[in-house]
Amino acid sequence: MQKIKIKGQDYQLPIYLPDATLGVARNLDSLDLLQVGLEGVMVNTYHLIQKPGEEILQKVGGIKKLMNWSGFVSSDSGGFQLFSLIQKNPELGKITDEGIVLYTGPKKQKKTLFTPEDSIRMQFALGSDVMICLDDFSPPKANEKRIRESVERTIAWAKRAKVEFEKQLQKHGFTDDNRPLLLAPIQGHNSHKWREFCSQELQKIGFDIYGLGGWPLDEQGKFDYSFCQKNAELTPKDSLRFALGVGTPENIVKLFFMGYQFFDCVLPTRDARHQRLYVFKVDPKNLNQEILKKLTEENRLQEIFDYTYIGKGKFATDNSAISQFCDCTLCKKTDDIAQVSKAYLHHLFKIEDGSAFRLASLHNLRTYTLLIEALRRA
Ligand SMILES: [Zn+2]
Repeated sequence: MQKIKIKGQDYQLPIYLPDATLGVARNLDSLDLLQVGLEGVMVNTYHLIQKPGEEILQKVGGIKKLMNWSGFVSSDSGGFQLFSLIQKNPELGKITDEGIVLYTGPKKQKKTLFTPEDSIRMQFALGSDVMICLDDFSPPKANEKRIRESVERTIAWAKRAKVEFEKQLQKHGFTDDNRPLLLAPIQGHNSHKWREFCSQELQKIGFDIYGLGGWPLDEQGKFDYSFCQKNAELTPKDSLRFALGVGTPENIVKLFFMGYQFFDCVLPTRDARHQRLYVFKVDPKNLNQEILKKLTEENRLQEIFDYTYIGKGKFATDNSAISQFCDCTLCKKTDDIAQVSKAYLHHLFKIEDGSAFRLASLHNLRTYTLLIEALRRA
């Protein structure tokens, strides 16, 4: 089992972080997260600086105090969100060498600049354990020129972010034993040449964790495992690697065996809101690293993962638990009856009661932590 010490606290690897973009994994509070066995969350710097804002965050003592969350917090730089925003509507801003320029206000006349230094300073205001450098996301359909630009800018911004990071460490009195970690995403879209160059230059600057930057999707929109494998091989064997935004349970298992240890993904909570529930076909408590590795090598992971679409009519009268192998609040049995049966959850979705989102999210997140526990089991 691999362990890591961050700010003096031990964490086991691999680790999965649900997305708590605005300081909340939607519909769930910090006690809920603890209850399903989660040890960390991923928040978003740019969104939290909009609301509640840097000043309030500093006054309350950071995001952990605000959420009353004692676990691990990683903060995304905001680069990907801003890139998506500008990609959808170029009137909202542009990406320059200096940083990301945003146009706000009713007539888009107010201009603000978000720099790599701003992003790091704000992540110190949040009090994150893992901070992420602002990067220039390589767009999925980028040509060679745009890939090169994205890589060169990502390297230049990472250099500036590291300088600011060290300045802030000193300002806040961190030592080598209790400091947060700094992550740099590797960009370069699907170009091995540019990804390799990006990785080598980032390693010269030196970071604690290297991230899988860009979308791991092939031209048909399918998850591209060979791309993830190549990206992992670009950093030394014992590097810490973060598969940013990944993924389904199957993605996580496969990438873990490629050498990724950190995962964050919105899927379990988003799917929960869309009535899609994750279920194990076998008891996850009987799974371990060796068995999962064998299933991965033999391409048999589909034998252990399944989905239940709870909105289907056939569940309206189904008194059984969502998963016979899950121990979450819903699936727990009292007198042989599941605490929340398929029929009840189906009904709660049907009448659009808010509890349906919370309950479905709890179940899906527990499925993820059961998987992570299995991956940690030797
Ligand atoms: Zn459950």
